[in-house]
Amino acid sequence: MLKTELILIKLGGSVITFKNKPFHEDLKTIKRLVREIHEARQEKDFRLIVGHGGGSYPHVPAKKYKTALGIIDEKSYEGIAKVQDAASRLNRIIVRELINVGENAVSIHLSSCCVAENGVIKKMFLEPIKKLLDFNMVPVPYGDVCLDLKKGCCILSTEVILTYLGKLFAKTENKYKVSKIIMCTDVGGVFTDDPKKNSQAKIIPEITPTNFEKVLKYVKGSSGIDVTGGMLHKVKSLLELAKIGIESQVIDGKKPQTLKRALLGERNLGTIITNKR
Ligand code: ADP
Repeated sequence: MLKTELILIKLGGSVITFKNKPFHEDLKTIKRLVREIHEARQEKDFRLIVGHGGGSYPHVPAKKYKTALGIIDEKSYEGIAKVQDAASRLNRIIVRELINVGENAVSIHLSSCCVAENGVIKKMFLEPIKKLLDFNMVPVPYGDVCLDLKKGCCILSTEVILTYLGKLFAKTENKYKVSKIIMCTDVGGVFTDDPKKNSQAKIIPEITPTNFEKVLKYVKGSSGIDVTGGMLHKVKSLLELAKIGIESQVIDGKKPQTLKRALLGERNLGTIITNKR
């Protein structure tokens, strides 16, 4: 059966919000990115899921209530509600802007269609996503709080959500073939060190099974101890997908036209993560 191409995008929190200003979205960048998405969809036929990070929106309540740790005290329930509210407020902005450029986008709230077990997605109700894709509409999931069968609650990153969806579409019999995952962040790709802290850092154009051990060491060093987010989390998730044959690209979402060019198939735009040697 000839499968329809499906592309998964992540609009990073670092691109769509001002990370050090709570509840501040970068509307100009959001408007440009959704325009690029729409233009690419006019030029080429593919189905699309647009995930996005939370950036400075859910960060404050998630940190205050330590939501990622689970239900730890009486205040945790208030935390679940506040994180869900903050993350979905940013989601409304992304969905609204996609609709404004002509994309029929619909929110997917993981907090209400999914349960996790120790931070790992256990079950997700996927029928709405599949149906939206059949209609050539655009599902928009995002990093969200999720109810957890073991620890009460957890945070699901957009990387975890897209990895789950990528694997699922690759494994189950369905009409779609995930051709790639595009991660838009605020730097030009994966570097030998954090490019914001080290001007000598060099871009790594390709991560393959041959160099990934070395790359993981670089990225581990540059990301410090924060293993739940940042570039290390991204590279690890993308390597999982590379192993099952799904290629991904880490690109600079702040640089105009880069997302559009990636959607139209250009490869040399940042870092490619692939299992092709
Ligand atoms: P997003 O919010 O877009 O998902 P993150 O803030 O989680 O992105 O991760 C991107 C950030 O990771 C960059 O802003 C960069 O400063 C940092 N970073 C740390 N190490 C590296 C590295 N080796 N290569 C690229 N970026 C890195």
